[in-house]
Formats: sequence, C-alpha cells, structure tokens
Amino acid sequence: MTTSTRLAELGLSDSGRRTTPPPISTLMQSALANPNLISLAAGFVDPETLPTALVGDIVAEFAHDPALGRQALQYGSTGGSPDLRWRMLAEMEREDRVAEGTYAAAFERTLLTTGSQQLLSLAADALLDPGDIVLVDSPTYFVFLGMMASRGVRTIGIETDEGGLNPEALAEKLAELEATGELARVKMVSVVSEHSNPTGVSLLADRRLPLVETVRRFSERAGRRIVLIEDAAYRGLGFDPEAPEPPSLFALDPQGEVVLHARTFSKTFSPGMKVGFGVVPVGLIGPLLALKGNQDFGSAHLNQVILSRAMANDRYHEHRRRVVAAYRRKRDVVLEALEEEFGPSGSVGISWTVPQGGMYVWLTLPETIDTGPQGDLFERACREGVLYVPGEFCFAAEPTPPRHHIRLCYGLPPVSALSEGIARLATAIRGRLDQ
Ligand code: PMP
Repeated sequence: MTTSTRLAELGLSDSGRRTTPPPISTLMQSALANPNLISLAAGFVDPETLPTALVGDIVAEFAHDPALGRQALQYGSTGGSPDLRWRMLAEMEREDRVAEGTYAAAFERTLLTTGSQQLLSLAADALLDPGDIVLVDSPTYFVFLGMMASRGVRTIGIETDEGGLNPEALAEKLAELEATGELARVKMVSVVSEHSNPTGVSLLADRRLPLVETVRRFSERAGRRIVLIEDAAYRGLGFDPEAPEPPSLFALDPQGEVVLHARTFSKTFSPGMKVGFGVVPVGLIGPLLALKGNQDFGSAHLNQVILSRAMANDRYHEHRRRVVAAYRRKRDVVLEALEEEFGPSGSVGISWTVPQGGMYVWLTLPETIDTGPQGDLFERACREGVLYVPGEFCFAAEPTPPRHHIRLCYGLPPVSALSEGIARLATAIRGRLDQ
C-alpha cells in the first residue's frame, strides 16, 4: 500500500492531507537523538532568561489573595483579559511615541490568543480559501508558510533586502497580478516587521508608509480589502535603547483599514505561556472571535492574569531589559565567531546579516552550496555536531526558493557553546567548499 492510499483510507480532509508538520519538528528529532549536538536551529528563547522567580512570585500572590487566584483560575472571555489588552495598547502607544489614549478606539478590535500563531491561523481561517494568493517577505517565517500550504493557498515571495520587504517590488507584483486578472485572489500581504525570523533584519522606517499605502491602493483596485499582516513577534527586542524601533505599521493605519498587528509574549517573556495579542482591521474581530469561540472559547486565562500582574508594576519591562541584554551578548559572540572563521562578512563569498535585535542571523553561502536536508552540507554539519535551519524552508513556493542560505538562532545554546557551534558549522562549510 502506498502512502497516498493509506492517507486516503484515513478519511482525511483536503486540508488534513495537505498539512505537513513544520520542518523544524523533523530537525528537532535529530537534535534530541544527539545530546552533544549544538542546536542553532530551534527558535527557542534563552532558558537562562526565563522569568522563573517572577512568575513564581506572582503565582504565590494567589495564596495570599484567593479572590485574585480564583479570578485567574476561572474561564476568561473569548477575547481575553481586558486589563492585559489595555496594557498592550498602552505599550504600543509608548513604542510608537504617540500620546496616551491615541489607540483607545482600537480596543474593540483587540484580542488575546494562544500565541500569535493562533492569531495568524484564525486570520487565515477567516480570510483564505484554497487557490487564494498571499504575498510574503522573502524569506519569511516558515511556520506561516506551512499554514498557507495546508490551506491550499498560493504564496509568492516579494523581493526583500537588508531593509526588509521592498514596497516597490510589492507594487510591481500586485500590478502584474492585476494585469493577469489574479488580483481578486490576493487576500493578504505578510511581513515579519522587526528583527525578522529568519533574517534578523527589520523593515526600514521609510518603507513602512509606502507599504501600507500600496496595500491600501491595491485593496481599492481589487474592490475589497487585502489584509496586511504585521507579524511583530520580535518587536521590543531591539538592542540599542538609543535607537528605538520605528513606529509600527499599525501606527500608520490606526483606523484599521488594512493592518493586522500580531504580537506575542513568547519572546519577551515566556513561550511556555503562549500568550499572543492582536489588533485587527475593522470588521474582522467578529469573525475571528466567532472562530475562536468555536475552537476554545478563550485562551488560558491564568497566563493572561500573570502577564497583567507582571506588566502592572514594570517587572515585565525590567525582565525584558535582561532578555535583550542576553541576546545582544549572544549576537556579539556569534558575529565574532563568524568573523574569526570566515573573515569579514562577504570576504570569502560567505556573508551574514547583523541583527539589531532578536535572535536570528541569516547566512548566505556561495550559490553552489545546497544547504537543504537533502544536501551534503546538512549531513556534514550534523556529523560535526551542529544543527541549523536550511534557508529554503523560509521561502514562498514562488519564485523557486534559493538553496544556499542558513538560518542561525542563538536563542537556545548557552554563550559558552555558541563559538563552538559556529566553529563546527565552519568546519562543515569548509569541507564542502574544498570539495
Ligand atoms: N511569528 C514569528 C515570526 C515567530 O518567530 C513566532 C514563533 N517562532 C511566532 C509568530 C509565533 O509565536 P507564538 O505562537 O509562540 O506567539
């Protein structure tokens, strides 16, 4: 019996058959099999930075304040804790450097989800049919791409450089799709706006308005909204307090015409809590809450209350400052190790991004090197004892994904293992180059 007949016999839906596990799950299995492996693959946060004492203290408050504990341990609402949603809006106002209260009107369009992953998934359920088209930065968050594939959606990558997605290239692609009569199928544009997974780069400040305006303009031409997903999972993790992140895409569309702002506490606080937050365009909150209501009628309320308490007296921000300092140090170690192995970026045909925040570095090798799991380099790297994410996972189906990139994440390994991890990778790469 072939795999496809077996799947047919399982009676799976179209989407059940189309869906494959995220490629990282397979890679993680190899990692677990070898305890000496240094994983520069997993997008895990630094375990040393997890807020164990802080969360412990907050949970301990429940013992002294049973009313608070009972409230936290009860079901919440489908949209999630209003207190935490207000706090997040206030946080966005500070980040975007607008007056307090500016975003108050958007409160009705906010919700809390089980990680931002659930928000992206709900948005996809609410908006996308098989055959629809979604345009993404190139490369982009590979789990999002998996989600699109599972829904039978066509993904097209738009030219992206060290300043993020190029809005002119987006406009050209949209015009091309309009000319071929396909604009009607374009439902979303998605970008990872800051310290991107996988490249570590952020969308330049002066590209933001052209991006929002391009999406608005083509929404009008299409005769219905194209949603602009602002995946801001790494917002708030910038290394330089003197160089704050540019205003969000939401700041350029506070009325909610096109922008869906997706956030998470997974990177700044704890992925184990899986708390995501979103502000969605006008008219979408109803369908999203209906879908969520049918799915789980609300995400874990306990976690939302813990986060509210952490944000209430700035313990959250203190914690985030420590997280950022830890990642900054790790970024420095990784970049120094790369330079030690290969000389300055670009000098031997190998170049890398210099992230200003977050936890990813994107490596570009000569085009002749296939970094994919089917290629020789990946196997060599595993033999040397280091794991990375092949860059090809991070590209839309169209145009044909390049295969000579690598995503490195410095989240999980301790500082002491990072240089060794890069040294192992360099040995594998040199071995491949010498062939
Ligand atoms: N977006 C991006 C770009 C991410 O890297 C991640 C986590 N790896 C998420 C969304 C989702 O994270 P979570 O569901 O934990 O909030």
